Amino acid sequence: MTATLPELAPVVPQLPDVCAPPRVPLVTGGSVRYANLDLAASAPPLRAVADHVAELLPYYASVHRGAGYSSQVSTGVLERARTCVGRFLGARADDVVVFTRNTTDALNLLAGAVPGPVLCLDAEHHANLLPWLAGPHRVLPTAPTLAETLDALRDALAASPYALVTVTGAGNVTGELPPLAEIAGIAHAAGARLAVDAAQLAPHRRIDLAATGIDYLALSGHKLYAPYGAGVLVGRRDWLDAAPPHLAGGGAVGAVSFSGGEPDIGWAAAPQRHEGGTPNVLGAAALAEACRALDPVIDHAAPAHERALLTRLLDGLAAVPGAHPLRTWADTTDRVGVVAFTVDGHPAGRVAAYLSAEHGIGVRDGKFCAHPLVDRLTGSSDGGAVRASLGLGTTAEDVDRLLTALHGLTRRGPRWRYGVVDGRWAPTPDPRDLDPLRLGDGGTTGTRSACA
Ligand code: PMP
Repeated sequence: MTATLPELAPVVPQLPDVCAPPRVPLVTGGSVRYANLDLAASAPPLRAVADHVAELLPYYASVHRGAGYSSQVSTGVLERARTCVGRFLGARADDVVVFTRNTTDALNLLAGAVPGPVLCLDAEHHANLLPWLAGPHRVLPTAPTLAETLDALRDALAASPYALVTVTGAGNVTGELPPLAEIAGIAHAAGARLAVDAAQLAPHRRIDLAATGIDYLALSGHKLYAPYGAGVLVGRRDWLDAAPPHLAGGGAVGAVSFSGGEPDIGWAAAPQRHEGGTPNVLGAAALAEACRALDPVIDHAAPAHERALLTRLLDGLAAVPGAHPLRTWADTTDRVGVVAFTVDGHPAGRVAAYLSAEHGIGVRDGKFCAHPLVDRLTGSSDGGAVRASLGLGTTAEDVDRLLTALHGLTRRGPRWRYGVVDGRWAPTPDPRDLDPLRLGDGGTTGTRSACA
């Protein structure tokens, strides 16, 4: 007889800690814990990431060209970071992981490597739009529904050949998620490859290049809780090996000579071919550590945490008089925790200044480097919108504080005065201490003498 085993409670991995937010001053007096609802712009480091960087610092040395012990340790750290990031993203065995500064840098590198015309949507962030505005490339207008947009994509690919289709994995204005596996299928059926701008997707959802059919992917460490100056371009080797080097210089070559009177340059293969100059080891190590910390939670625990907060935010916004969340498509059903909205009668810049000055809440306002999309969604070319973005470290109290502040704004207006100072809305006057680190004028005259 077999004994009946007791039901096991599902193991929910704990979300990794984000470095604690500071207390921030309010114009009305006192201070509060900073409610950082601007994670889509840049996220603070995970505790594990900051600790890993601190642990590495004593070994920090230049990589690849040093025989010293620390150089060798640092070289190993860089190359292990490459492997780790590739694995986290489900890269194929022959894919290349090139460390870049950020997503913009990665997409510009890809723009220099693509061997033919590129097709992108007009709803893209400028990083995935501006590189494709010149030359043989084409920008496809986004239709009101995703289904119509995908039909337009199929039609455009049938009408003329493209080397590459490039899309955002999660919108930085609306958080909407285009179906990447389906788009990969559409692109591949037409003989094109697919690149994904994953700057906003990677911090929120699992990405698996091999399973999804994504050929190239770009992301930024500073949005993935690793703000130490590194990003990546990951993808198929052949174009990257054939392309001119992204940055010509030391490290990108095997050998250089003037033996026949003419320069004879033996460029290295990718990834080194595109990583000229001293690599950002700390940035790469930070990015890899973020991948290690996110790996156990990115499938379930992190998206579940975020979905609960997103529902709270969207339900709450629906009850704020005159608040209108933006969306690109009428038929998308899933999104990450990135919500841009307008508030009738309240300029976006003033709303953001008010939230910061009177409630200690950080949000973004403007057009979020997606001018064509935001102008279309707001029906105006001047105001822009307010964007709240959620992630690891966001609490229900952060969301509730935002909603309470918006109710206060729409019911009785701000308590302080605001004006446009140097082109941005700001409290006037602003009595807050905006130099808590005592850096003075940035020279050597502060109360700290860091440059002495
Ligand atoms: N793509 C998207 C979707 C983004 O949200 C951003 C950052 N706002 C970028 C690209 C550019 O990222 P980075 O500034 O790190 O290059």
